[in-house]
Amino acid sequence: MNEIKENFPLLAYNTFHVEAQTRYFIEFNDIPAILNFLSSEHAEIRPCFVLGGGSNVLFTKDFEGIILHPVIKGIEKTDEDGESVIIRAGSGEEWDNFVAYCVKNEWGGIENLSLIPGTVGASPVQNIGAYGVEAKDFIHRVEAIRIDDGKKITLTAQDCHFSYRDSIFKKDLKDRVIITHVNFRLNKKHHFVTSYPDVQKELNNYPETSLLTIRNAVIAIRRNKLPDPSVTGNAGSFFKNPVIDREKVASLRRFFPNMRGFESPDGSVKLSAAWLIEQCGYKGSKQGKAGTHKKQPLIIINKGGASGDQIYRFALKIQKTVMNHFGIRMEMEVNVL
Ligand SMILES: Cc1cc2nc3c(=O)[nH]c(=O)nc-3n(C[C@H](O)[C@H](O)[C@H](O)COP(=O)(O)OP(=O)(O)OC[C@H]3O[C@@H](n4cnc5c(N)ncnc54)[C@H](O)[C@@H]3O)c2cc1C
Repeated sequence: MNEIKENFPLLAYNTFHVEAQTRYFIEFNDIPAILNFLSSEHAEIRPCFVLGGGSNVLFTKDFEGIILHPVIKGIEKTDEDGESVIIRAGSGEEWDNFVAYCVKNEWGGIENLSLIPGTVGASPVQNIGAYGVEAKDFIHRVEAIRIDDGKKITLTAQDCHFSYRDSIFKKDLKDRVIITHVNFRLNKKHHFVTSYPDVQKELNNYPETSLLTIRNAVIAIRRNKLPDPSVTGNAGSFFKNPVIDREKVASLRRFFPNMRGFESPDGSVKLSAAWLIEQCGYKGSKQGKAGTHKKQPLIIINKGGASGDQIYRFALKIQKTVMNHFGIRMEMEVNVL
């Protein structure tokens, strides 16, 4: 069995760069290593948490249980027809390396999701999304192992109950499975998604629209707008954009006529959490060693040496202010531990 480490520091395992340690930590290179662990007495240790790249977690204190860290590698084409390919990737592959590999091979679909930090294994968990594309649009099957009984399971995209930044892995299967592989159906015939104004504008700098130029455009936009987690601790958007019904938005717009929102066909409206936060005066603000990013107030940053608890308390303050001002509760997107 792989070595179980005790009192293991997590500083290098979270993009907020906060100090915390876990009572136990184990890494898995492959499925046999997971099964071996799950048949040992250590499998009973609770709580347990599956950690990928740590780019969507905030440790507010030491973790008293065991952290399971899959680093399963490998990308292979398992099927294809005239229209599409099925690509199976290990959960420990770095997401953006996977996107680069697919773009290089002219397999289309996920190019708009370039430069999102983290691992392939986490991509179905919150159904990552950016610039008009969500992982759910291309996830074919998710392979996982149940922690309680070591059983291998395969979920179709439908089984995953995907919705905006949500899936079964955040609900019924939360902390109950280790995702080992994700299978994507990608297109040989390309359908470019260039509806976002930023993407359209950036593409003007390139002679043509292709998987590669979209990838490069998205990377350029993200580098310009978002803090680099290797330099400034953060976990991307701290809150989800609140989704509320059309009537409530109409009544709010009587008081806040500039309120930003995107209508969906089902009658709900996705409000811009960044706008709500900015209206409350939090753009580029700070509280102790925590702050919000100067260009994107939805991103809470570690300004250097902040503890997870300080960052969390700042997030709670922002959440409460938005609630008091607009009567809207913003749900946290980051997994707070
Ligand atoms: C600068 C920045 C920009 C970002 N931009 C975006 C964006 O545009 N869109 C977006 O959707 N997200 C974005 N994020 C958030 C983050 O990149 C994604 O949520 C990513 O998928 C997290 O991957 P991870 O491997 O780091 O997961 P972790 O943070 O380690 O874990 C996240 C969740 O997934 C679970 N998990 C991870 N791996 C597995 C596994 N193998 N099996 C079972 N459960 C698992 C964890 O238990 C946890 O609940 C951004 C983050 C940063 C820092």
